[in-house]
Amino acid sequence: MTASVPAPVVELSEVTKAYPGGVHALRGVSLTVGDGELLAIVGPSGSGKSTLLQVIGTLDRPTSGTVRVAGHEVGALGDAQLSALRARHIGFVFQHFHLVAGVGAVDNVADGLLYAGVPRRERRTRARAALERVGLGHRLGHRPAELSGGERQRVAIARALVGEPELLLADEPTGALDSASGQTVMRLLRELNTAGTTVCVITHDPGIARSLPRRVQVRDGEIVADSRGEVR
Ligand code: ADP
Repeated sequence: MTASVPAPVVELSEVTKAYPGGVHALRGVSLTVGDGELLAIVGPSGSGKSTLLQVIGTLDRPTSGTVRVAGHEVGALGDAQLSALRARHIGFVFQHFHLVAGVGAVDNVADGLLYAGVPRRERRTRARAALERVGLGHRLGHRPAELSGGERQRVAIARALVGEPELLLADEPTGALDSASGQTVMRLLRELNTAGTTVCVITHDPGIARSLPRRVQVRDGEIVADSRGEVR
């Protein structure tokens, strides 16, 4: 019986990524992430974690191998189609937030819907709701410089979730935060996952990695351990 195996949201098969200058950031990675999973991607600095997340997020194309996200074969899509795929299905959270300076929280979050074809008024309404959801209903007009690091990351999470993506990718989301703010961020990511979003988190924090249901360990561009075990 395979009925309990969730439909894959991400399917990488024999993916390699070479950068000019002979750097092989990924060396034949196969990875399946099922609908509703919450997983940590761990490994030393320079091992290929960010490259892996960029390829999963269709921000970067592999040198060889195939990538399927939300049922779409990425290699078959042009850049405009990839942008549409990202806008509809994928949210991103980065270590250093990537918010627009000088712009209030609502507009930073509303930007997350820019490429989803949502009218401006509705973008702002949905942005307010997303900020309420991350506990920032009292910070709607605040600019990044007026917010703490933890609050900035919660704005970034609101921006990632405002489009209701099925896949959320977070690259060291707690890396620039104190531990209390980091715990708040991880609690939010867990809540999103409980509500149905598939979440992949790169982390250097062994405590966080241990606390997640699945850990994928990367070293020298390869997956060297996967606590989910063989999935194919
Ligand atoms: P990690 O996230 O585990 O620190 P990365 O995926 O960032 O690892 O990097 C993997 C390898 O690829 C490293 O050797 C890094 O220097 C190299 N690399 C990453 N991005 C680029 C790039 N844009 N151009 C050239 N080399 C890169």
